[in-house]
Amino acid sequence: MQSNPTRDEVDAMLASISAPDLDLALIEEQVGTLYGLTGIWRRLGGEREQNFRLATGEGQEFVVKVASLEEPPESLAFQIEALDHIARIDAGYPVPRVKRILQGETMGRLSDANGQMHTVRVLTFLAGQTLLDRIKSAGHRLQAAELITLGEMSGRLARALQGFQGRGSPASMPWDLKNAPQLVERLLIHMPERIRPVARTLLPDLAKATSEDLPKLRAQVIYNDFHESNVLADLIPGVSVQGVIDFGDMVYGPVVQDLAVTIASLIHWADDPVYAATCLARGYQRFMPLEADDLAVLRRLVLARLLLQVGIVSYQSSVNGLDTPLGDLQAFYMNAIERIAQVTDAVFVAGMLPSVVPMSRAVYTVQSLPTPSLLQHRETVLGKTYTFYNEPLELVRGRGCKVYDASGNEYLDCYNNVANLGHCHPYVVDALTRQASTLNTNSRYLHREVVRLGERLSSTLPAHLDTWIFVCTGSEANDLAVRMARAVTGKEGIVITENSYHGNTSVCAPLSLIDYDANDRPGWVETVPPPNLYRGPYRQSDNDAGSKYAGHVDSAARLLDDRGKGLAGLMIDSIFDGNGSLVPPPDYLSEVYARVRAHGGLTIADEVQMGFARSGTHMWGFQAFGVEPDIVTMGKPMGNGHPMAALVTRRDIAAKLQANGGYFNTFGGNTVSAVVGNACLDVLWGENLQGNAARSGATMRAGLLDLMERHEIVGHIQGRGLFLGVELVTDRTTRAPAKLAARWVRERMKSLGVLVSSTGPLGNIIKIRPPLVFSNADAARCLEALETALSQVPADLRPKAV
Ligand code: PMP
Repeated sequence: MQSNPTRDEVDAMLASISAPDLDLALIEEQVGTLYGLTGIWRRLGGEREQNFRLATGEGQEFVVKVASLEEPPESLAFQIEALDHIARIDAGYPVPRVKRILQGETMGRLSDANGQMHTVRVLTFLAGQTLLDRIKSAGHRLQAAELITLGEMSGRLARALQGFQGRGSPASMPWDLKNAPQLVERLLIHMPERIRPVARTLLPDLAKATSEDLPKLRAQVIYNDFHESNVLADLIPGVSVQGVIDFGDMVYGPVVQDLAVTIASLIHWADDPVYAATCLARGYQRFMPLEADDLAVLRRLVLARLLLQVGIVSYQSSVNGLDTPLGDLQAFYMNAIERIAQVTDAVFVAGMLPSVVPMSRAVYTVQSLPTPSLLQHRETVLGKTYTFYNEPLELVRGRGCKVYDASGNEYLDCYNNVANLGHCHPYVVDALTRQASTLNTNSRYLHREVVRLGERLSSTLPAHLDTWIFVCTGSEANDLAVRMARAVTGKEGIVITENSYHGNTSVCAPLSLIDYDANDRPGWVETVPPPNLYRGPYRQSDNDAGSKYAGHVDSAARLLDDRGKGLAGLMIDSIFDGNGSLVPPPDYLSEVYARVRAHGGLTIADEVQMGFARSGTHMWGFQAFGVEPDIVTMGKPMGNGHPMAALVTRRDIAAKLQANGGYFNTFGGNTVSAVVGNACLDVLWGENLQGNAARSGATMRAGLLDLMERHEIVGHIQGRGLFLGVELVTDRTTRAPAKLAARWVRERMKSLGVLVSSTGPLGNIIKIRPPLVFSNADAARCLEALETALSQVPADLRPKAV
């Protein structure tokens, strides 16, 4: 166990060394002799050293650093040797290079006016703006992909320092977290009032972490200072790190401390610090995998560093009268402390996965076949199958809301709700690849992630929905829901809305009209009219439309009874996707549910389309209507493209199925899927995509209503959140569907680089259902393409001029 620093030692650490102040002429002359360098000199700031920028006649630029007499020469040597080491191990990593004196040593000595000898070091100058300046001037918040990149650069630096001997590393310095509890205690009186009680409460835990846990952890020389003022970066596109400077805080310490410093220094530039920490850790671990023991102390180390930042900055301004560049970040640090203090260690690191195999960094190039021949080739292998668009697209990669075809054309994807979080979200991809390279097995074995997934999802649902069955597709989930309803009621009949789609199994196909002829429907299926207020039997102006539509459930139940089937349940997709995205009257669903229950049936909410926050107002589509289903099914966006789906129900209903032989699904709830499902929730909540769906959904809706004002062909706008339908008509009075125009618009938008579909029972609805990361700029691009397409619809497909 290490011994804790005494009060005197703490004070000694806090005392600052002041920079020397030598005559520039003296320095110029001696640097000329030692290094053979001359040029134009400019003074730079520096707390402990006298620094200059030197531009030589040959266009090279250097930083010349003259050390204080108080600075131990071995610690200066330590820093310079570390830079040399990094340059040898990872030549591409952007740190300053050491310029040697003419005799070959890494440092020189020069005398001041009194003949006292100062150590001088010369490094190459790295041009660029700090990340802090970039973030501030752009008013930018760091996104997941950027945080992962920054985490990677921090981890890569730690990896480059592995194996560095580190003689001369400072034995005690204030930013070494092993001393944090003593420093924080000493600095409490200088801290803002707001944070003192939190700091006091945290201290015992921090002391335990540093005195008992840290000494057991894997240690090496660490950079220990990856913060926004030490990182030179560009922000567009994404973060690209051009330099890492200032190696004065390096120590020999636990690797996890290095990550803790990175996290504490950057999380306040993202919306949710806990999620930001996970992103940074994911990136870091691509180069420096951490073990479970490392992660166990991470949260406390992050808190220790944040408290140190607040404490030291407060101290320097109150005692030393210094205005440090970190001063204006104090409020951010305190916000982060308060947020992180609220979560447990386990929650903090839950998404960080202690495992594993670093990601392959290989770049793949795609060999493309021209589309027609690929289409023919596909038909020889798969037979004739349905594809989107007159000329099918060969998509080869995707990112966010953008997808790219084999020729490199970019498309804005306004149709894909499976990639809910954006195509290939790096956080999810990372979780998937890591878990796939660690373990993937089925749910007959115990695994924490699947339990955690069910628990987290349950927290978003009515309390009685507490029992989960994980499957692979929405069809499987709905199939199972029907089986459950039958097992519980002892009846067979299922009621659905006309034109709905619920899946492709032999149970679900009769509940779906795509590729299924209504005349072939078995007697256990009965339909009710969807609550279409634009074209249905009861319309917008009818105040009783909700109960009138709901009333059809009674006649459907009676028909099922007459056929000897009875009503086992009702299945409703709350956006009525097959009908082109309807918003029912507010009382519709509750009336329907009441009637189904009166007939002894179960209510099944099919959330495959609308689940996972697409409405912008709720996590699940049915929640907007105040109903509580007996069974909820979900799928599509659940794994952001990874095939996963689920059913949740009451314990007594699930028990009934278990009693009838149980249910097992080889791939449902497998280890990788569970990890992916959790990663998706991290992103959905961490990036507040529900809020984004509300925002950009509102922008889209406003834009579409505006288009409707100017384009006679737009008859109606429907849907909610980021699930919208634009209904095209050849005549606004008769509402005659403009099916061919809808197809034409779809194809034209594709040629303008925007992907939508034309759909609905009459084929006249343009469906817009983008990933939830859809931005206002994406909305503008989509609206512009739609505007262009609508204005160019050929005359014979559009409403006749009157
Ligand atoms: N329910 C609804 C509402 C759907 O839209 C779909 C798929 N389009 C399904 C169920 C079936 O899901 P899967 O394709 O994953 O089997």
